Amino acid sequence: MLWVGTSWKMNGTLASARDYATRLGAALDAGAPAGVQPFIIPPATALATVHQILGADSPVLLGVQNAHWADAGAWTGEISVPQAADAGAQLVEIGHSERREFFAETDQTVNRKVAATLRHGLRPLLCVGEPAEVFAAGGSVAHVTAQVDAALQGIDDLGRVLIAYEPIWAIGEGGREARGEDIEAVFAALDAGYGDRVEAILYGGSVNQGNAAETLAVPGVTGLFVGRAAWQVDGYLELLRIATAAA
Ligand code: PEP
Repeated sequence: MLWVGTSWKMNGTLASARDYATRLGAALDAGAPAGVQPFIIPPATALATVHQILGADSPVLLGVQNAHWADAGAWTGEISVPQAADAGAQLVEIGHSERREFFAETDQTVNRKVAATLRHGLRPLLCVGEPAEVFAAGGSVAHVTAQVDAALQGIDDLGRVLIAYEPIWAIGEGGREARGEDIEAVFAALDAGYGDRVEAILYGGSVNQGNAAETLAVPGVTGLFVGRAAWQVDGYLELLRIATAAA
């Protein structure tokens, strides 16, 4: 099974979310594309709306872009895993490099959030990735495996865990598209260490309709986590088609 999903980051309105969800739901009316598990991570403000439009039986899983480790309490501005589940989330994205860089996310908070997500029966989507200078120095495997080891410390059952390897040099505006040889060593290491224990290991970073098939051909890659190229529903549907062909 190939997992193919997108986070919309801090983009869009309820109107654009409704339009995306309506068109996606119609396109997947007959069920998920063969061999592919789709997922969408809207802004938290749009989650319940997207959930309502897609319906509880939708083949598309939904997620949040972050959640706190506590179940409730005096944590102004945060949302908890139970609140995310209440609004329709089955996934929690944790540790995106933007959260680590701008919101003081650490390996320790990531670990607590992974544990909280699993405790409530949701799936953590653990994001890891190295900066450009680490990549240039040949330190990608050590950096990424250390992040994953720290995030999963003390967690025995990894069967619902998704890992997304997203090198920082590859993601977002100004990111460089990775070639297979740029990422194959990290995937070999992640596959060897975690491949038979986690649900899937995804690649993210400037994935688009032109490079998705090549990325999915890298040994150990069992999914794609996509930003910009999936923010229009037609772009996302095309990526699902490419993944089906690769599955
Ligand atoms: C990301 O920021 O996590 C990401 C994958 O974005 P993009 O696909 O736009 O590079």
